[in-house]
Amino acid sequence: MPFRNIKGHAHVCELLARAAARESLPPSLIFAGPEGVGKRMTAIALAQLLNCLSPIRSKIDAPGLSGDATGAATDACGECASCKRIARGVHADVLQVAPGDTGAIKVDQVREAIERTAYRPFEGRRRVVVIDNADGLMIPAQDALLKTLEEPPPASVFVLVTSRPDVLLPTVRSRCHRLRSPARSGRCRGSVDRDPRVQRSGCARGRGAVGRQHRRGARRRSGGLRRRA
Ligand SMILES: [Zn+2]
Repeated sequence: MPFRNIKGHAHVCELLARAAARESLPPSLIFAGPEGVGKRMTAIALAQLLNCLSPIRSKIDAPGLSGDATGAATDACGECASCKRIARGVHADVLQVAPGDTGAIKVDQVREAIERTAYRPFEGRRRVVVIDNADGLMIPAQDALLKTLEEPPPASVFVLVTSRPDVLLPTVRSRCHRLRSPARSGRCRGSVDRDPRVQRSGCARGRGAVGRQHRRGARRRSGGLRRRA
């Protein structure tokens, strides 16, 4: 499902679209927010945008965008072979990791995903690893992720989806840019921030709207991106 069809995430989707268009998307992300608001769907939509064969292009009122006169790719078409394969969960470059029957994500699951990111994308442009209910990551699994989140393989993006980001290790949180979705009944507005308890120099290196918002958020602890004039 492309960004445009996801309800209640307009601001987060716009942030992601802008970052992707600028090629400044942070490679390690946490999508946080209440249960059942469509966080995983948003992660899948991002994977579709990054691999769509005929993406929707639009002009974004912001400097520094890549793209030609027809605008930058800001949403997936939802119809091409790549989009459909991602939606069906059978795209070779979009890996989904989820808890097993015990509710836990084990270290072997994480290691397998990391091993697969060592290779260049097989059929798409970007490899996307979506870890759903990431709060179920066992401690060894989180430890196994640290190095990869710090320096993800080229062309790879890791998205940790969780309604309880605070149960993740601070060392995991500190390596990811966090996007927060509102409750379904809340205002249609997301925000980006990082764990205030962990300051890492690498955190502030993010470019583009997401990185800027992070830096602002770290100072003000408030959410939401201002639209650039
Ligand atoms: Zn497509």
